[in-house]
Amino acid sequence: MKNKLFKLALLTLGFNVFVLAACNSTNPELEKFLDKKEKQFEQISYELGDAYWNFYSGEAKADLKTPKDEFYNLLINDTLNNYIKEWYPKRAEIKDTILRRRIELWHRVLLSAKVEYDAEIMQLRNELEEALQVSDKKTKEPYDFETNMLKLIQLRNKKAVELGFDNYVHLTFEVNGLGYQWFKNFVIQMDSLSYNAYRSLVDKTKEEKNLEKFDQRNAYRLYAQFYRNTESRNVKEEEMIPLVKESLANIGINYSELPAKLVEKELPPGVGGQGLMINIPNDFRAAMTLGVEISTWMHEMGHGLHGLFNSIDEPILEGYEWIPGNANTTFAEGMAETSAWITRNPEWQKKYTNLTKEEIAKKRELVHESVPAYIRFSLYNFMIETELYLNPEKSYEEIQTYLAKKYLLIETEEIRTRGLNNIIYVSYPLYLQNYLLADMIASQVHTALNEKFGENYVFNKEVGPYLIKNFYSAGEYYNWNERLIQGTGKPLDIEAYFNYYDIK
Ligand SMILES: [Zn+2]
Repeated sequence: MKNKLFKLALLTLGFNVFVLAACNSTNPELEKFLDKKEKQFEQISYELGDAYWNFYSGEAKADLKTPKDEFYNLLINDTLNNYIKEWYPKRAEIKDTILRRRIELWHRVLLSAKVEYDAEIMQLRNELEEALQVSDKKTKEPYDFETNMLKLIQLRNKKAVELGFDNYVHLTFEVNGLGYQWFKNFVIQMDSLSYNAYRSLVDKTKEEKNLEKFDQRNAYRLYAQFYRNTESRNVKEEEMIPLVKESLANIGINYSELPAKLVEKELPPGVGGQGLMINIPNDFRAAMTLGVEISTWMHEMGHGLHGLFNSIDEPILEGYEWIPGNANTTFAEGMAETSAWITRNPEWQKKYTNLTKEEIAKKRELVHESVPAYIRFSLYNFMIETELYLNPEKSYEEIQTYLAKKYLLIETEEIRTRGLNNIIYVSYPLYLQNYLLADMIASQVHTALNEKFGENYVFNKEVGPYLIKNFYSAGEYYNWNERLIQGTGKPLDIEAYFNYYDIK
């Protein structure tokens, strides 16, 4: 591992150590303090991970409150906050790049904690989560979810302004490592590059169905075409777990050696599956509900591989998911989709599904045809939530109607809107763009693997070690685009994504 070797080199070359010490005399003290805090951070992360495991799997009673309170106490610690406040602005002076990165990540974690661990916000969040939780209790108190959800949005915005940001969207994109300006340009570019292809799809639908106006149902149908054909149904194997293991073995990863546990069981309605990295890199567990597709299994397993092959030592660089800003969630979803995409590979499908060569080609054609609908539906979906924070004066209905016309090109006035009762809005705010970005990352990684290892790459035992070395091992030490460069030779390439699907 590059960074570990780097640290080792520093320790063995006395000269370097001397120079370092001379530059930053306060570093040893700072480092010792961070070591201590990161140990605590990691311990609480295990506890919360284990509690969430019980919450989803039902194996034992879940105590989420104790670890959350412990996080609160850790993150409001004055000495910690003062250290980061002092060192973050002058982090460029720190020669030890591992320490520098630790300070960057602590800055993000503490910033997001100032919002999410604010007493009023935390209380409202818990209340809303409880209101959404599936419960056996017959009599639940009536709860005005809508009003309280809007209040949570307002509080998050208010807190972000107090912390010096325009609003919560700006703060979140600082914390998640993408940057607000980058995100804004990304949305504009995705919109303009997909517009013509989607317009043709709309016109074609109208012509074929003899429609005067393109409506919401037509748009949903195009989107469904994409999903129906990317999912690998028709697999020969009835049991999913052996198929996951075999797919990993094909790329040189031995599942039986991993501290991983996959469980198939009936989960509460609405929960498809949940993979949890409880102790990085020593404990991954996923509980999946009965009958989910192999691509979903492989997605969760992808989260597992990403954590299980993380060999960095500093806990804050391991990237736990419990405090926003610690892990880069875009890249994490990208790694999960990279694993899921194995099941989209034609060679894999030839071996493990009942589809003929012609059927596989036909499915691919249908995916390519409908992908503009997928892209624009994704934009529509995540921009709804983004706009709620950017334009709090607009109503939720107004925002949905406006964006349905803008991105889905709906021409009628009858637009059915959704309610705000979505767990994502409460617990994973401004997360939804990650799924479109993950599709792009997976396409870029698979293109690179194809070029490097040939068409049959999903059966090449060097592929697993390649993914480990370039994408998993260094944890959060490199930023997400640097990791992409290491493994694919370039940062996220939007135009290549459009070329991949042949979108014109
Ligand atoms: Zn995921």
